[in-house]
Amino acid sequence: MGKPTGFKEYARELPQDKDPLVRIKDWNEFHDHLPEDKLRSQGARCMDCGVPFCHSGTLLAGMAQGCPINNLIPEWNDLVFRGLWREALDRLHKTNNFPEFTGRVCPAPCEGSCVLGINEPPVTIKNIEASIIDKGFDEGWVNAEPPAKRTGKKVAVVGSGPAGLSAAAQLNRAGHTVTVFERADRIGGLLMYGIPNPKLDKKIVQRRIDLLAAEGVKFVVNTEVGRDYPAEKLRKEFDAAVLCGGATKPRDLPIEGRQLKGIHFAMEFLHGNTKALLDGSKGPGYISAEGKHVVVIGGGDTGTDCVGTSVRHGCKGLVQLEILPKPPESRAADNPWPQWPKVYKMDYGQEEAAAVFGADPRKYMVTAKRFLGDAEGRVRAVEIVRIEWQKDANGRFAPKEVPGSQQEIPAQLVLLAMGFLGPEDTVLAGLGIERDERSNAKAEHGRYATNVKGIFAAGDMRRGQSLVVWAINEGRGAARAVDEYLMGRSELP
Ligand SMILES: Cc1cc2nc3c(=O)[nH]c(=O)nc-3n(C[C@H](O)[C@H](O)[C@H](O)COP(=O)(O)OP(=O)(O)OC[C@H]3O[C@@H](n4cnc5c(N)ncnc54)[C@H](O)[C@@H]3O)c2cc1C
Ligand code: SF4
Repeated sequence: MGKPTGFKEYARELPQDKDPLVRIKDWNEFHDHLPEDKLRSQGARCMDCGVPFCHSGTLLAGMAQGCPINNLIPEWNDLVFRGLWREALDRLHKTNNFPEFTGRVCPAPCEGSCVLGINEPPVTIKNIEASIIDKGFDEGWVNAEPPAKRTGKKVAVVGSGPAGLSAAAQLNRAGHTVTVFERADRIGGLLMYGIPNPKLDKKIVQRRIDLLAAEGVKFVVNTEVGRDYPAEKLRKEFDAAVLCGGATKPRDLPIEGRQLKGIHFAMEFLHGNTKALLDGSKGPGYISAEGKHVVVIGGGDTGTDCVGTSVRHGCKGLVQLEILPKPPESRAADNPWPQWPKVYKMDYGQEEAAAVFGADPRKYMVTAKRFLGDAEGRVRAVEIVRIEWQKDANGRFAPKEVPGSQQEIPAQLVLLAMGFLGPEDTVLAGLGIERDERSNAKAEHGRYATNVKGIFAAGDMRRGQSLVVWAINEGRGAARAVDEYLMGRSELP
């Protein structure tokens, strides 16, 4: 611990984000870094706790608490305080293959459980992480490191999101020959086609993919295993396979008027938008929000991304519907530290919508009752209704409609962002993989082996829609399990 009194001397400080009204004019990232002296003072706020809650990732009350990949946070905070950036970078890479992704998009459960956060604002762990890795790239310290020897074993990875990429990186490091299959036209999973540019620039994603390719990982795009490439062939051509196909089945809203034109799943909108930006032209899958009243149904991260994207398109109006109550301004009594703090916050999309339209676009405790159309079969409005949460006969809270609270809101574009139901069937059915009660690939966390010998599953495909950092945790863990399976032992962390 570099400075025992740092937490008393320095206040929490983050760099100023670009003004919302300025940043919505482009698709660039809007976070910045603090100058080096300030970053060092922020590192000095870390107390090097005897029990660093930030570092130990567990699930508490069903939510992540602490870092799921056990980042050595107090160690690199101290190294940053002392100006030892190269050492901090090495420490960061020990546990995390892709700190440039988590440093940008992670909701930072580490900060939610930082001990300083009990009575002061927590250490700026996420910003320090992003600053270390960005400096590493700027200084030319991050380079391809192909393995010294090859084992002769061949491993297939199906799906190229953060789980597939981290599994591939680790297996390649162990000397196995890795091929990653991806059905989309670009590698990266939701890093590429889910999370929008302003949160994670696609050049940053591509930079890491290029490094992995230079290290020897082979990427095959436009190939859906189970359709374009027979699932059975995987077992014949590879010594093992890791299934990382994500949990991409969207939850639908089968209410009256669902068939109307102009109602889309969030991912159709987000995918089409990023593809148009990358291709430099709007393809047939592109959906425009320009000049439209947009209603986003779902108050989570995906909904926020739809809000930020619609604002950048130049939508005419925007409402985001959330069925849950508005969270409190500070931790409720039943949500104590070190649990993930369920508190009200304006995410980037809401900040931008508020800057343009004058208020947070979220409406809480409402649900859509039916979609109303025009003579051409296009959506023109959503009828919403207020709900109350009341306990049912089993003592569980359930939504109950408030009679007479119907209201019509205009909508020429409706985006359904109500979460995901689980993985798609193609590859799992093709290989005869057993499912758990939530339809995910059945495999124990930490072991990752499915019921089919030599086939492992990781990431959202195994745990359901989650976070990038959990996907990295699972990809790394699955790589170790595969290495053990192939070699009888593993030195992978
Ligand atoms: C819009 C959106 C925003 C999000 N924002 C955040 C965020 O800010 N922070 C955060 O931590 N998490 C976020 N998440 C969650 C996070 O992106 C996921 O938890 C994470 O990407 C899961 O990684 P994965 O590798 O398991 O799967 P994915 O990233 O979903 O990748 C799976 C890949 O497998 C491919 N695939 C599927 N089946 C096949 C097949 N049969 N053959 C070949 N390829 C196949 C798919 O095309 C896909 O590219 C967000 C999710 C969404 C939808
Ligand atoms: S919990 Fe907070 S103060 Fe303690 S070691 Fe982790 S980052 Fe530092």
